[in-house]
Amino acid sequence: PILRHHSHNPNSLLQILIGAQEIHGFIHADAIDYLSSALKLPRAMIEGVASFYSFLYLSPHGEYRVLFSDNITDRMAGNQNLMQRLCSQLWVEPGKASEDGLLWVNTTSCTGMCDQGPAMLVNNIAINRLTQDKVDRICELIRERVPVSDWPAEFFAIEDNIRRRDILLNSNFQAGSALKAALIRGEAATAQASQGYIAHMIDPAGLDRAADATLQEIKISKLRGRGGAGFSTGMKWEFCRNAKGDAHYVVCNADEGEPGTFKDRVLLNSYADLVFEGMTLCAYVIGAKKGFLYLRGEYRYLLAPLQAVLQRRREQNLLGSRILGQAAFDFDIEIHLGAGAYICGEESALIESLEGKRGTPRNRPPYPVTAGYLNQPTVVSNVETFASTSLISLHGGAWYAGIGAENSSGSKLFSVSGDCDYPGIYEYPFGVTVAQVLADCGAKNTQAVQISGPSGMCIAAHEFDRRISFDDIPTAGAFMVFDQRRDMFEVARNFVHFFAHESCGFCTPCRVGTALLSNLMDKLNEGQGSPYDLAEIEKLDSLLQSTSHCGLGRTACNPVLHTLAKFRPAYECRLSHQEFVPAFDLDTALSQARQMTGRDDAGAHLEKNHDAK
Ligand code: SF4
Repeated sequence: PILRHHSHNPNSLLQILIGAQEIHGFIHADAIDYLSSALKLPRAMIEGVASFYSFLYLSPHGEYRVLFSDNITDRMAGNQNLMQRLCSQLWVEPGKASEDGLLWVNTTSCTGMCDQGPAMLVNNIAINRLTQDKVDRICELIRERVPVSDWPAEFFAIEDNIRRRDILLNSNFQAGSALKAALIRGEAATAQASQGYIAHMIDPAGLDRAADATLQEIKISKLRGRGGAGFSTGMKWEFCRNAKGDAHYVVCNADEGEPGTFKDRVLLNSYADLVFEGMTLCAYVIGAKKGFLYLRGEYRYLLAPLQAVLQRRREQNLLGSRILGQAAFDFDIEIHLGAGAYICGEESALIESLEGKRGTPRNRPPYPVTAGYLNQPTVVSNVETFASTSLISLHGGAWYAGIGAENSSGSKLFSVSGDCDYPGIYEYPFGVTVAQVLADCGAKNTQAVQISGPSGMCIAAHEFDRRISFDDIPTAGAFMVFDQRRDMFEVARNFVHFFAHESCGFCTPCRVGTALLSNLMDKLNEGQGSPYDLAEIEKLDSLLQSTSHCGLGRTACNPVLHTLAKFRPAYECRLSHQEFVPAFDLDTALSQARQMTGRDDAGAHLEKNHDAK
């Protein structure tokens, strides 16, 4: 049935594997053999895909698979103690399945619940606001083998936590209104072009002119992509529209995996019509018949509600054939699930993943606008970008361009977390100062703010009057607050481990460089550091910047360099040696052997032994 549901399409391999895993909790070797012959794909390729995604398992991982979110904000909220508590109550070691096959516990990168952490995923479903009590109840449920679907519903309640609304979150949007506005605008443009007496229905250029009118509004709005890069949305749509291909595609990137980011979660939960309508507008402009929403695996709980919204929109004739009665306007949207690979947030890796492959970033150029999904012209945009285009169609480009700051029109959603009284979602016109956001979220004694996740910028107190905009501090939305109690070295160390874990391994500089960087940070943490190691970090940065294949490798050293520049004492207090010291200390490593043999005399110590000679 899984293969039938996906029409035996090898491009749906990832979705098929996700479905296959749901049967036994892991992907059985027989299932791989079967898929290999049914899809006519080499076995090695299927295994290669399955082993790429951290939420897919090729061996039994237990009836209950528990992943604790391990972002820095989860750590600040005590996730490590909670994980230890669960492991000791259920007699299991992190990373190892219990012998009775009941349970497997591990950590995962940020699950997008930083405003209500600590959080975990149980069999891929999110549970937030973990406390000791909640963990104890979870232990009982696991011990009694209660199916996750029968666990108390309140465990799975995820709040939107909207704290400040502006044009997007206040929009009170009616499904279909932005599309109708586009069609009316198109009719007016057509009527004008035809001097008012030929209806656009019999004018073959009519739909083109109608789409052109909407594209014009997007360009006038000066909307820039909200995923971080800030490329002009109007230009992207225009390039794609003009690109030659057998088919055009629209892809919504809902794989927000940047630690500290959770705004898409809220848009998809409560503003899905804005997003889907923006995708439909884009299809109207570029002439696409098919769209995909790539939903991060951590937001699996949103899949059914989003499917219901799509179905309702089909019934409202806002998707499907002849949308709103327009003869040449057919478009529908499919939702694809991710499976725990941060790199799939990179647009070309996301396209590879949509095609059922490992999420390895492609060489660029060519860019997706000319050679994207199945090498056809494709617009890939962020959830917030598509939602904004609906508003622009409704109210006009000039209205939108009048909001925000120079070169940064409109509003921006922030995912605020960390040391503040009111974590959650804040929407501001572009140009707001860091200080204003801090005041509104109830942050006190703030030492630093990490903006736009680990690859973004670390802003220290003397910079809090800086503004969030593409000209000053650009952001994809994460806003993590650290007060004076926090050790900024530890913050950077957590981020560096994140990059090492999420490196896709395709290119050596990033695969090895991020591991070396983590080791160096661990070495400093263990008191084995010297100034030599700081110089080594700088060398690694220039190597990663110049030789990495994609942005992950190029920005992997950012958290260390930024904190080193602004919080150097946090590093210097760890430099206990002036000369180089190796990270590995053989004498310390032998301490366990000494314990086991009951020897701790001078002869059992390397250094003393050496001195004696
Ligand atoms: Fe993969 Fe890192 Fe290379 Fe990017 S830079 S392709 S994440 S290994």
